[in-house]
Amino acid sequence: MSAGDSQPVDSSAPPQRQQQVSAKPSEPSPLKQTPPPSSSTSAAAGRRSGSLSSSGSGPASLPTRDRDAGHHADNVGVQPSTGIQVVQPSTFLGSYVRPRAIVTEGPMTPATATQTTPPRPLSLVDREQIEGLRAIRAFLKVRTSYDVLPLSFRLIVFDTALLVKKSLNILIQNGIVSAPLWDSRTSTFAGLLTTSDYLNVIQYYWQNPDELKRIDQFRLDSLREIEKAIGAPQIETVSIHPEKPLYEAMRKMLTSRARRIPLIDFDDETKRATVVSVVTQYRILKFVAVNVKETQMLKKPLKELRMGSYTDLQTANMDTPVMDVIHMLVKKNISSVPILDKDGTVINVFESVDVIALIKGGIYEDLDLTVGEALLKRSDDFAGIYTCSIWDRLDTIFDTLRKSRVHRLVVLDENGRLKGILSLSDILEYILLEGESEGG
Ligand code: AMP
Repeated sequence: MSAGDSQPVDSSAPPQRQQQVSAKPSEPSPLKQTPPPSSSTSAAAGRRSGSLSSSGSGPASLPTRDRDAGHHADNVGVQPSTGIQVVQPSTFLGSYVRPRAIVTEGPMTPATATQTTPPRPLSLVDREQIEGLRAIRAFLKVRTSYDVLPLSFRLIVFDTALLVKKSLNILIQNGIVSAPLWDSRTSTFAGLLTTSDYLNVIQYYWQNPDELKRIDQFRLDSLREIEKAIGAPQIETVSIHPEKPLYEAMRKMLTSRARRIPLIDFDDETKRATVVSVVTQYRILKFVAVNVKETQMLKKPLKELRMGSYTDLQTANMDTPVMDVIHMLVKKNISSVPILDKDGTVINVFESVDVIALIKGGIYEDLDLTVGEALLKRSDDFAGIYTCSIWDRLDTIFDTLRKSRVHRLVVLDENGRLKGILSLSDILEYILLEGESEGG
C-alpha cells in the first residue's frame, strides 16, 4: 500500500525543531521495542497459514557481524550501536535557495548563461557545503576499493552448483547477505548472489507453488532461468577492479542501481579473473564518514538539499501479508518498506534482507505470514532502525553513519509519522552528482 498522507517536502514552510522519537539513545523508544506479533493469522487466500515463532526479534542489539560486507573484520572504526539512534536536530535555520552549480567552477552552461536574474551570492554555509563536497570527491578519486577493505577478512564464494536452499543456510550462519559466484566447470566468476535473487526465487515459487519439488532442487546456476521464467529484467553484474578509484566504483553503483559490486582482479599468470571481495555503498560511505573530516562542513539540512524520497512511499502495516511487501520491494526496486500503525506512526521497517530468514532451508511456508509474524523471524543481530527529521543536517547524518551500522534513515515528522526515506543511495547520489549537471 502507498502512504497517501506523506507530504512532499514543503520548501516554503518555516523550519521547525525535530521532536525526538527517543529522548535519549539509551532510553527505549517506540521503534526500539519489538512490535507485538500480530494477532491476525490471515494468510493469502487458499494458502497454508504459517506458524508463529515465539523467539522474538531483537532490534538494536550489538552488531557483532557485518552482514553487508561478506566478511567479519572492519578497519573503519565502526562503533557498535547500542540502540536506535536519533540524529540530533539541526540548528541551521537558513532559507531555502538551492545554489546552482555549487560544486564545480567550470564554464557556464546554457541554462546559467541565459538566466536573466543574477544568482544569489553564496552564503558561508553554501561555501562550506561546496568545500565539503569537493573534499569528499577529491578523497574518493585518490582512494581505491582496496583501501576500504579490512586488513584481514574472510571471503565466502559460492560454487554455482550449490543448492539454493543450502546457500541460504550458509548466508545465515555467516551473517552475510550476498556472495560472489564461481563457476568451477569453467573456472570463471559467475556474478553476485544478492537478496534480489532470493526475491526472484520467491516470486517463482508464488507463481508455481505446485513445483515445490523442483524448486527444492534449484541450484545457483538456475537463477538466470528463474529470472527469465518470472520475466525479471536480466541485469549483467557490474564489477570493478579493486585498484580503480572509489569514485569510479560509486559511479558504477549509481548508474546500475547496485548497492554492492564485486571487486574483480585479473591474474596475469592464469589469465583468469579473480574475485577479491565485494564493495558496498555502506562500506564506502562509512569509510568517507570516518576519514573525511570535511563531512563536518556539510551543514545543510535534508529539506534544503532535497535528499531522500518523500512521495509515493511504499508502506505496510503489521497485518499486511508479507508477500504483498515482497511484491513492493520487487516492483519498486527498493530495499525496505516502513511498517506503520493505524495512525501512520513508524513502528518497524521490513528490509529485503529479512526474506532470507523467511525461506531458510528452502521452506516456503513462512511466506504465508503477516509482516508482524515475519518480523519475529529476524536475526538477533539486527542493527536497529535509525530515524531523522528533514531538519537534520548532512554533517549529523555522517556522524550517525560513522558511529553506527546504518543502511537507511526513516525521516519522521514531529509526531513520529512517516515523512520520507533517506537511503544510502540518496546520500551517494548527492555526493556524486550535486552541482555536476550545471557545471560539468
Ligand atoms: P534503496 O532501496 O534503499 O537503495 O533506495 C532506492 C531509492 O528508493 C532511494 O531513492 C530511496 O529514497 C527510495 N526508497 C527506498 N525505500 C522506499 C520506499 N519504501 N518507498 C518509496 N521510496 C523508497
